[in-house]
Amino acid sequence: MKNKLTATRREFIKLGGVAMAAASLMCLSNRAVAATNAAMRSAMKYQDKPSDGKSCSGCAQFIPGKTAKALGGCKLFQGDTEISPTGYCIAWVAKPK
Ligand code: SF4
Repeated sequence: MKNKLTATRREFIKLGGVAMAAASLMCLSNRAVAATNAAMRSAMKYQDKPSDGKSCSGCAQFIPGKTAKALGGCKLFQGDTEISPTGYCIAWVAKPK
């Protein structure tokens, strides 16, 4: 009986360690997901503010975030997950109506 309890306790501690490791990895991967594509931003003269009433939220290339004001992505800026819906770049193309 005592051995069975000890084994159960060991398994519980092992599972706790695995859970902690998984939680750490999830935190790291969330950080890794948030990224910018500096080369494309520079080449396309990206800015965080609109230009002449044109903004990423009205661009056909924009990939919206979870909410209307959340950062999103751009079909042209590979790996960039921090495109502002109020941003703008020279590749702006109006969304089809
Ligand atoms: Fe914004 Fe330019 Fe991407 Fe259009 S192409 S969503 S304006 S970064």
